[in-house]
Formats: sequence, structure tokens, C-alpha cells
Amino acid sequence: MFLNIFYITNMSSYLQLFQSHADLLKALAHPRRLEIIHLLRDQELPVTDIHTMLDLPQANISQHLMILRDTKIVLTRREGKQVFYSLGDSKIIEASDLIREYLIDLNHDSELADHLSLSMKELAPIVTDPICKMRLSPKTAAYHLHHQGEDHYFCASGCLQKFKQKIKTKES
Ligand SMILES: [Zn+2]
Repeated sequence: MFLNIFYITNMSSYLQLFQSHADLLKALAHPRRLEIIHLLRDQELPVTDIHTMLDLPQANISQHLMILRDTKIVLTRREGKQVFYSLGDSKIIEASDLIREYLIDLNHDSELADHLSLSMKELAPIVTDPICKMRLSPKTAAYHLHHQGEDHYFCASGCLQKFKQKIKTKES
């Protein structure tokens, strides 16, 4: 009887571990939320900057941020009227990078690997996002665009879209 109870308690904490793991992955499992943690990789950002970079409806972004906050993946700090976001622990970025490397290996002979490995190149030289002026490395930039013989790197999809619009207006 005693042994049995011991077994059950042990078993439930064993399963609880996988449940916690799954809950965390669930909080991460959205392209936009992965994009947000990538933006916060080396810096703290005011929520308004996150809005500019992602170019999504505000309600949408708030919901993603809430999920990340609830799981403590991101932390907030209030300064006056502005709320700043940062990563709770940089280990989450290491985990995300590792998964990206795994994706590259998995898709090594497809077009996706080319895209993924483009942004995994060497850390140096440091480049600047032409839209928000964020300093990035080609390794960590979310997007890369080759335009008229020049390489441009972007922090997130919002900045890439704005850049493409700029090109369009210039060319038309
Ligand atoms: Zn940007």
C-alpha cells in the first residue's frame, strides 16, 4: 500500500514535467510569438516599437504578449506611460536557435534551408535595419532582401513590408 502511493506521487510529478514542457511549447507555438522573442533577443523594447516592427493590429499583438507574459517567457517593466518588454531568460533564445538549426538539417536539400541558413550566417558584420534602425547581425535578422545589388536585413516582417512599399513608391 505504502509503495503504491509512493509510486503514484512519483508518477504524477514525472507526468507533470512533460505537461509543463508541453504548456511552454504551446505558449511558443505561434509564428508571431516566435518573432516577438526573436526581437527581444538582445534588447528590451517598448511595446510601441513591437507594434511598429510587427505591423499587426494592436489587439492581436496584445494577445500574443499576454500569452508570453503569463508563461513568464517575457517580463514587463513600466516607465511612465510606456511598458517595456524583455526576455525572462535568454535560454529561450538558445532553444529557439537550436530548433532553427534542426530545421535547417531537416530541410538541407530544400529551398527552406537556403532561407533559414541565410540568416544563420556569421555574426559579423553588424547590419542595420533600414526601417527601424535596429542593429542586427545577419545571423539573427528575421528577413533578408537582396535589392539592386545590396543586401538588406530586417528585424521583423513589419519592417520588411514597409521597405518593400518604399521601393514600390520609388519605382512607380
Ligand atoms: Zn525593424
